Amino acid sequence: MNKYENTVTESDKNVDTFKIASKIRDLAISHNKLFEESIPLIASENLLSPLAKEMLITDFHSRYAEGLPKERYYEGNRFVDEVELEAIELAKKLFNVDFADVRPTSGTVANLAVLKAFAKHGDKIATVSLDDGAHISTAEFGAFGVRGVNPVFMPFNRDEMNIDIDNTKKVILNEKPNIVLFGLSLFLFPPPIKELADTIKEVGAMGWYDGAHVLGLIAGGKFQDPLHEGCNVLSASTHKTFPGPQHGILLASGMEENQYKKLRSGAFPGVTSNHHLHAMASLAITLVEEIEFGKKYAEAMINNAKALGESLYNKNFKVLCPDKEFTESHTIAINVHDLGGGEICAKKLEESGIIVNKNMLPGDKSAKHPDGIRIGTPEITRLGMNKSDMNIIAEFIKRILIDGIAPSIIKKEITDFKRSHNKISYCFYEGENPYKYYRLV
Ligand SMILES: *Cc1c(COP(=O)(O)O)cnc(C)c1O
Repeated sequence: MNKYENTVTESDKNVDTFKIASKIRDLAISHNKLFEESIPLIASENLLSPLAKEMLITDFHSRYAEGLPKERYYEGNRFVDEVELEAIELAKKLFNVDFADVRPTSGTVANLAVLKAFAKHGDKIATVSLDDGAHISTAEFGAFGVRGVNPVFMPFNRDEMNIDIDNTKKVILNEKPNIVLFGLSLFLFPPPIKELADTIKEVGAMGWYDGAHVLGLIAGGKFQDPLHEGCNVLSASTHKTFPGPQHGILLASGMEENQYKKLRSGAFPGVTSNHHLHAMASLAITLVEEIEFGKKYAEAMINNAKALGESLYNKNFKVLCPDKEFTESHTIAINVHDLGGGEICAKKLEESGIIVNKNMLPGDKSAKHPDGIRIGTPEITRLGMNKSDMNIIAEFIKRILIDGIAPSIIKKEITDFKRSHNKISYCFYEGENPYKYYRLV
């Protein structure tokens, strides 16, 4: 082949490549519009405040700051150091703990940092099983597998949607795990940490809490306080109920200084190099906003979840745990087996403008074809929605899934409803449209 074949002139090339860049931007604009016009009910998603978002396009994004504040390997970190020290202090204050590390770049990375610090190959970690609602980090094909630790499963009471206390005590006493891990991705009720604390102590295990889903509820003092109920360390994402950037965090209390040192070195150099400084700054802003607005926000998320659960239940949906007011968190789960299953229902809802995810319910065998859908209130609450809005949303869901109204008929109503609710709350600069696309040119 002639080496000049297939070449294009510089100017042609620029035209073609810019077209691709334009296409990507158009896709992003379309994506923003999709969410601007849809009712977002994914339990693990949220919106950034205007100030937190601003941090993401600062020059922090372009920098490295390996190590700890004032002990960096790179120059130019003067202001980064101040932000990081501030973020650590804010986290300690908000969660009333002794230790915070704001460097993990996601919840999974925070989990890996804990595993790096406190687990070794062959250790046993007690956890809830995946099909009872645990996250893939706890699977052998996930973060547990990376560290070569073995899960020991805590029996789960499927009617109560919580850990079975008596049988779990037996498992802990028999198996003597090194760590007992609490935390779920289908997280309806606070796990019984207090009730298991003595047993955990008795076998000399460490209590670990994965608060990815419920960090914002904990911040608002509305769910449980794991680090004062018997857990030693907490790892979490900072973008689910906690309305911050996609990032992670480690919190701990009541440990020896050398254990904090292990945790820090688990984060860096263990599982991060760069810790995404723009996201860390955005996290610092969100920590401030949570100190100011977090209590009211957490309360509203939970009240909305209960209201949505009740409203759907009254419309004949099989919402889990009706005897326990459906939830004590931001999440409800519905068994839609009789309506075609989670996959079909989630797709139907999306076509009409309501975004949820299919979800395994305890006892389900397939993650691709589960019986459940999971519904969360973090984002709609962040948009200021209240109990009467929950009734409206429940009615939309009923008309789509039970009455079988076609997407072409209902979609416009949903878009109009959503367009009148696109104002951010529980932060500074309330009222901004969080789906606005910031155009450069
Ligand atoms: C979402 C989630 C994670 C992972 O968080 P990422 O920030 O997505 O990496 C870990 N644990 C639980 C329980 C989760 O729900």
